[in-house]
Amino acid sequence: MSETLSQTGEFGLIHRLRNQIGRPASVVKGIGDDAAVVPFSSRKYLLLTTDMLVEGTHFTRKTPAKAIGHKAVACSLSDIAAMGGVPKYAVISLGAPPTLPTDFITQLYEGMQVTAKEFGVALVGGDTVKSHKIIVNVAMTGEVAKRALVTRGGARAGDWIFVTGPLGRSLQSGWHLWFTPRLAQAKFLVRQFKPSAMIDISDGLAADLGHILEESRAGAILDEWSLPLRDRAKLENALYDGEDFELLFTLSPGKAARLQRLQKKGHFFRHIGEIVGRARGLQLRAADGTLKRIRLKGYTHF
Ligand code: ADP
Ligand code: MG
Repeated sequence: MSETLSQTGEFGLIHRLRNQIGRPASVVKGIGDDAAVVPFSSRKYLLLTTDMLVEGTHFTRKTPAKAIGHKAVACSLSDIAAMGGVPKYAVISLGAPPTLPTDFITQLYEGMQVTAKEFGVALVGGDTVKSHKIIVNVAMTGEVAKRALVTRGGARAGDWIFVTGPLGRSLQSGWHLWFTPRLAQAKFLVRQFKPSAMIDISDGLAADLGHILEESRAGAILDEWSLPLRDRAKLENALYDGEDFELLFTLSPGKAARLQRLQKKGHFFRHIGEIVGRARGLQLRAADGTLKRIRLKGYTHF
């Protein structure tokens, strides 16, 4: 009997696909980062990302259509931000049942348009099909100056780890629907500091830091007391809930100290730990200095 998706797991599946499809030499970054990176011009790369929201998995019929529209666009904006890029164009694919009030789609597009406009993205096309469940997929392009590109792969032992906002209980608080993608922070960071690695937190701090550690072949220590928690969130929520859509990034010690001194008005950058050697895995340091190894796991779809 062949393995099922629940046995392979979401991350296991992505690993397999990465091996199966390979990466043509012209591709700068294929599977394994927040967006694909391909050639564009002498100074810039093109970024490509796609994110799908499915009724019953990400929202219900009771979720306001405008909020679904916002989130659908904001998820892709967050991935472009995590690469240090500037978002440009999006195409939208829709699946919907024939009984759905047309006004739902109008509202959905209102939500998408407001957010797209706010962040300078043009909606330029899409595809529409009949389906049992409502499905909204956004595919987005972005641009990044070659020297501004930040991947998951550049963290080095000694780097400091930062996060751009509070973590945990995103679902219960409604943040998962109405979050602000951290493009302003990303722009500031790539201009002034150029992080060594960056990712947006969609699967949870532990899992997404895990992705940085895997791509950078490194380990990390998180300081338990320094993790910023959303209202009523506990440590476990911050580590494993996901959908925070904050940026998680690393800076060399010199740059980190400069960022600490310069805390920019209106921006939140919290130092939460350090990158260490790979053999140490991911560890949590308590206030009394004791270390314990923690799971890298977060939300996965299967
Ligand atoms: P993110 O949470 O940043 O959107 P994902 O966890 O969705 O990232 O995806 C991680 C990586 O795996 C990305 O490089 C993405 O392009 C790739 N990926 C995910 N699903 C598929 C798929 N079905 N086929 C090919 N690549 C995929
Ligand atoms: Mg991402």
